[in-house]
Amino acid sequence: MNKLIYCLIILSMAGMLNAQKYPIPTLDWDALSETKPWEKTEDWSVIPKKVTPGDHTHMPSSDAIILFDGSNLDQWQKPTYGIPADYAGTKATVMNATYEKHAGSPPEWIIKDGVIEVKPGGGNLQTKQSFGDVQLHIEWLSPVDKEKKGQMYSNSGVFFMGIYELQVLNSYENETYSNGQAGAVYKQSPPLVNASRPPGQWQAYDIIFNAPKFDTEGNCIQKARITAFHNGILIQNNYELDGPTFYIGEAEYFAHEAKMPLLLQDHGDKVKFRNIWIREL
Ligand code: MG
Repeated sequence: MNKLIYCLIILSMAGMLNAQKYPIPTLDWDALSETKPWEKTEDWSVIPKKVTPGDHTHMPSSDAIILFDGSNLDQWQKPTYGIPADYAGTKATVMNATYEKHAGSPPEWIIKDGVIEVKPGGGNLQTKQSFGDVQLHIEWLSPVDKEKKGQMYSNSGVFFMGIYELQVLNSYENETYSNGQAGAVYKQSPPLVNASRPPGQWQAYDIIFNAPKFDTEGNCIQKARITAFHNGILIQNNYELDGPTFYIGEAEYFAHEAKMPLLLQDHGDKVKFRNIWIREL
């Protein structure tokens, strides 16, 4: 297993040791590296067709909540917990976060020249505000680094409600499993086409996310849905998620709050972000 992923997961798990009320099961990574259960949910059977995007800019509407305009990280915090690998850890983490009312500390990511850059090992970035159904605009850039490849080349992610990921990755001439490339609903739905620009160029996501709904017994009565545009091109068309997006294991729902924070992922790569705004639907 890649060393960096391993370190990040260990760091995430270490952060979760703070959790008292809902103990998060510990995974035996040495044993798991023998069977590699994460490979079971990687889809290598399709290769989304390449499409060249047109140029465009996308500025916020008058009713948008500005999450980042280049000046400060006032809307953001560092969450108390990391991103777990599987269903059990994710469920416990969400329950702990809910219990702690989505507590956090000042973000560690840095702003340089009006742009946010991931601080590797600095933890994820989470909005202070919670959201349900939203329209999100976010721009990102994968720095050029010819030494990197696959899932390790500019990996980050936009996590709606902290647990439903639309993947951020350099997917311009960079092979990986299709449901893990840029614009994929991670491990669930590959993008309809590959609209990636080369590393070093800014790219945009415009995403509509509809939160799942649960009945009083905790059953999912309406699945989460994602429609997404990558550089103006449709890549997810009202896709119905099977549950939160996991590194290991099949997706499965568990009941959670109607609104939870948006999260950006620290996967150890210095991905840059700018012009982030959101509209509640
Ligand atoms: Mg990611």
